[in-house]
Amino acid sequence: MTQEEVFKKLISHCKEYGFVFPSSEIYDGLSAVYDYGQMGVELKQNIKKYWWDSMILLNENIVGIDSAIFMHPTIWKASGHVDAFNDPLIDNKDSKKRYRADVLIEEQMAKYDDKINKEVEKAAKRFGESFDEAMFRQTNPRVLETAAKRDELHERFAKAMNDNDLAELRQIIVDYEITCPISGTRNWTDVRQFNLMFSTEMGSTADGAMKVYLRPETAQGIFVNYINVQKTGRMRIPFGIAQIGKAFRNEIVARQFIFRMREFEQMEMQFFVRPGEELKWFEKWKETRLKWHKALGLGDQKYRYHDHDKLAHYANAATDIEFEMPFGFKEVEGIHSRTNFDLGSHEKYSGKKLQYFDPELNESYVPYVIETSIGVDRMFLSVMSAAYCEEKLDNGESRVVLKLPAALAPIKLAVFPLVKKDGLPDKAREIMNDLKFDFKCMYDEKDSIGKRYRRQDAIGTPFCITVDHDTLVDNKVTVRYRDTMLQERIAISDIKNLISEQVSFKSLLKKIAQD
Ligand code: ATP
Repeated sequence: MTQEEVFKKLISHCKEYGFVFPSSEIYDGLSAVYDYGQMGVELKQNIKKYWWDSMILLNENIVGIDSAIFMHPTIWKASGHVDAFNDPLIDNKDSKKRYRADVLIEEQMAKYDDKINKEVEKAAKRFGESFDEAMFRQTNPRVLETAAKRDELHERFAKAMNDNDLAELRQIIVDYEITCPISGTRNWTDVRQFNLMFSTEMGSTADGAMKVYLRPETAQGIFVNYINVQKTGRMRIPFGIAQIGKAFRNEIVARQFIFRMREFEQMEMQFFVRPGEELKWFEKWKETRLKWHKALGLGDQKYRYHDHDKLAHYANAATDIEFEMPFGFKEVEGIHSRTNFDLGSHEKYSGKKLQYFDPELNESYVPYVIETSIGVDRMFLSVMSAAYCEEKLDNGESRVVLKLPAALAPIKLAVFPLVKKDGLPDKAREIMNDLKFDFKCMYDEKDSIGKRYRRQDAIGTPFCITVDHDTLVDNKVTVRYRDTMLQERIAISDIKNLISEQVSFKSLLKKIAQD
């Protein structure tokens, strides 16, 4: 199966099992807006809890807030979003499809990388054990030729982006013969800038309504509250403020399911540090955030850093944590050293002092900021794509299983009576009534046990227990493990301990806390 097919299957699986639905579906949907269903909402809550606890529980010096979506419009002027939160767009005149010019060029670079990797793979197969990959990359003429093209493109692209040179972006697309994936032609319009913020009006027009924006990031809510939190929480630098909330961007090309949405959720933490110490903290957060991802056990090889060539107007260092999605390595989280740009700019626009008095240095300054910013929905997609698995079984059948980390699974435990009679349902209910205070459980008595297992596999439930006739005598049940499908008999009194340990966030958080 190609990766594209896997991705299509994942999307339909998300719908079929109540994880993600297209928004307004009975009205034929709304482009790039999605709703989370009964399973999706649980998984999403668990992802958010994992992030929140890793920030708030593990760090004495990080506190949370929940700021409003609507904010004073001048905030977006100060932050640079009104003037510079743009994407370069280009249209293909034949297909009438719109693209991000930067994304078209990045895809072309990825093609060169793919070509190189294929050469390397082929050679590795040919030479077997004796293959020296580094040497091959440095000397093979075809690899060198492709790498040179890639580097040349990269250099031109980075310069055009940094200079905001739209004509040059178009010229690159022309020179590299980049075609529209739909029409296959190179009939392009000019490149134009497009602002990604949604706006609306607040107040009645009679009073002179004010144009307000739907926030395109949660970060600004933290910056404008920084002094409130610092003073009321008696916070001392270094300290952080965390927030989870909705953000809105009028994305030009909203494709790839929940990867790029127009309404999405962010988990952001702004860490306030002394000027001059920001790069040290940048490295620290880069490392900590990767640990957070890896602790989930989705596969260490699925992550990589991507350092930015084009720094945003506010940053002096930036990296992405990329995850291997079914459509390649893509950004899931950004870690940015935002300098004192935001606070400095808010001081200027608001006329309020946003300085911190550092008692150790005996001086005041505007703190520097390290930001960690991750999209809940992209994280959701990475977890789902790593977890989705189609397996052939020994008996010739196959199963679809979501190998979700137990702590994130929507349902932790399913309880089945073997048959719908002889008092087994009552016993099963009794067990569930006891455990429901600790975990999200699901009761199921319909169909064969095999079918019930399959239904739970498909939503990633890590444990199923079956109550049979012997249970009434020996107070034991059969527990079945999702990934191995192994079964064992355990005492009812042991169920809670067995499951608690595996589904708790504690073991994940401990992995991050280790230095
Ligand atoms: P991209 O380059 O993919 O547009 P970005 O660099 O603009 O992303 P940031 O502004 O750094 O993204 O936002 C931080 C995080 O918010 C991203 O890493 C991503 O997980 C999430 N995010 C940003 N835009 C979207 C979107 N349209 N839909 C879903 N998640 C998003």
